[in-house]
Amino acid sequence: MHPIQRTWSQTRINLMQKCPRAFVLRYGIAAYATKHPTGQMLREYFSIQTPWILMQISIRETIRDYVEDYQIGMKWSKNLIRLKFNQFFRHRVKERNSIISELSAWKDQKSMFHRVKPEQHLEEIGAKRCIKLIQHKSFTHLLNTMTFESISPLKSKIVDGIKVYNSPDFCAEKGETSILIRINLFGYSSIDHINQNAALISLGTEKKTIVQYSWKNGKWFIHKTNVSKKENKSIRQLIRLDSKEMERILKLVGTKNNLEQIPFADSSRSCMHCSVRFLCPAKDRLEEAKGEQMALMC
Ligand code: SF4
Repeated sequence: MHPIQRTWSQTRINLMQKCPRAFVLRYGIAAYATKHPTGQMLREYFSIQTPWILMQISIRETIRDYVEDYQIGMKWSKNLIRLKFNQFFRHRVKERNSIISELSAWKDQKSMFHRVKPEQHLEEIGAKRCIKLIQHKSFTHLLNTMTFESISPLKSKIVDGIKVYNSPDFCAEKGETSILIRINLFGYSSIDHINQNAALISLGTEKKTIVQYSWKNGKWFIHKTNVSKKENKSIRQLIRLDSKEMERILKLVGTKNNLEQIPFADSSRSCMHCSVRFLCPAKDRLEEAKGEQMALMC
């Protein structure tokens, strides 16, 4: 079985729920074709993020850098935080622009992406969010009383034979006490969401106390969760079910990459910011493409 079929992450699940076809194109076809020039190009194409997402990524990078320096006694001023954030953000925008410049095939699609300059208002928003977290009483307290270790966002764990990506940002320790810290840049939808996230983060570790900082409605919210055995069991069950559904969808494609049976998105809103639009017949006409699919299946 291809490894893609035994990999779980929140991003994949979100995408699969929004549009099974986008999921298949993003994580199925492109992954199968990694050794082919088209597959390599697709990978580059998929790595192009919007400036808004790049701002979020830069917030995480700034906080991580700040924590590392803080651990060795270097405390940044507000101006330095702004400067560091801008450096990360500008670097990310530059990287994005250079990928766009090098897109050689799908010339038409090149016009879907435009090179941009780092927008000042995004720099201001990003730096402000960093400052608010760094100066948050609870965050400062943890930094002053515990030892932090950064954890790579690419770190995965094997849960019931499935490779799961959902790592915390930091592990903080003091004597016998240790907690896992996660920064949720995109907020949360409900307390259930927070609890589920905590259960995911705690998988594969003895550390059951999870602290999440989530940006919502203009401020950082903190949730401290102790994951129970029952929650642990139910999250594992959920991962198994999600994983099966991913396999089912990918199997519909078959060896000939036939997408006839793969459903389109429910709403054209999903198509607006879809990163695989250029590969999809529904890119400008979702309802028409759905009708054609229905006709083919009858
Ligand atoms: S363009 Fe719409 S239907 Fe096609 S893959 Fe993207 S989200 Fe799905």
